Amino acid sequence: MLRAHLGSLLIPLLSIALAPPAAADPPGGGRTWVEHRVLPGERLSEIAARYAVDEEAILRDNGLPRRSLRAGGTLRVHAVRVPAPRKRIEYIVRFGDNWTSIAERHGVTRQALRRWNPEQPRSFAAGARLTIWVDGDYAPPPPTGLGLDREATGLSLQPVAMGGESAGQPTRGRLIKGVQLPDNGSLYTIRRPAFAFGSSHAVLNLQLGIAKFRQRAGYLGPLVVSDMSLYRGGRYARHESHQSGRDVDLWLPLRAEVLVERGVNSDARPQDFRQLAAARPGDIDWKASWELVKALLRTGEVQYIFISRARQRHLYRAARADGLSVQEVGEIIQYPRRAQTAVVRHSPGHDKHMHVRFRCADWERRCR
Ligand SMILES: [Zn+2]
Repeated sequence: MLRAHLGSLLIPLLSIALAPPAAADPPGGGRTWVEHRVLPGERLSEIAARYAVDEEAILRDNGLPRRSLRAGGTLRVHAVRVPAPRKRIEYIVRFGDNWTSIAERHGVTRQALRRWNPEQPRSFAAGARLTIWVDGDYAPPPPTGLGLDREATGLSLQPVAMGGESAGQPTRGRLIKGVQLPDNGSLYTIRRPAFAFGSSHAVLNLQLGIAKFRQRAGYLGPLVVSDMSLYRGGRYARHESHQSGRDVDLWLPLRAEVLVERGVNSDARPQDFRQLAAARPGDIDWKASWELVKALLRTGEVQYIFISRARQRHLYRAARADGLSVQEVGEIIQYPRRAQTAVVRHSPGHDKHMHVRFRCADWERRCR
């Protein structure tokens, strides 16, 4: 259909080039001649609204016989309102985005956004690239967390019941009145709720750490909280520790490209956890992993983070790239030395997840 209009448009477009320059127009009326480049699928009514003029006037000024516009063509518009010229930006879809949320964030309509990106399916994946035409004075909003757009601009924390108390040691202890990690889809995804009990102190600080991570790191992929403890604590499954409600396994966050490759859908909640587990070290977003470590440490309540030595190397590099000196990193990560003072320590088998141990709270008398 577009092609059919081409013939009829060639002549009007030629006449635009020959139209008198702006200075030749009589002054008055507060109007300004502007050139408008037609975007794919753009409608005459939209152009008229943009410059606060009649549709008929645009047709007349351009010698157009009918309402047929050619994408990429130029129109002369005698504008009443002159908005800042548009510019094209490329937007990379983040986990949790959908057409409407992206459109709203950029001050455009959902319909226009779809027309500019006809090759994108209805439900796209994180990492997809979209073309967006924004007004020249548009300033992008700061990044927000997964699903945080509407819910809150601050930290999105769920209330945590008090009274859950850690007793004994993580490797030989129990949990009193275990508190279940509340659902908080904007921050994390709980792999197995039956194993997601902890002390009030650990559950609260875990949420706080992840909220800070979401807020500061701009990582929008899923973050899987794997096992914490049983309701009453004690030994279970393959875990040696995780007995007193202050240990938690967090899956190392995946790179956006890997999420795209695996087809992790941007607006669906991941159901298949295998999709979200790292297969190789290269699958892991180490920059985000480092941000996660930093955010957890900022709570001031993390005692240790266990990651296998082979993987610490990647984390070390991310920390150095973040601007920390060798000495500063050395206080946090064991690698490349084997100092027993660092927070991030070696423990075998921690290749795909980090194991975080929170401190005992002041009021937890029996916690060791
Ligand atoms: Zn663990």
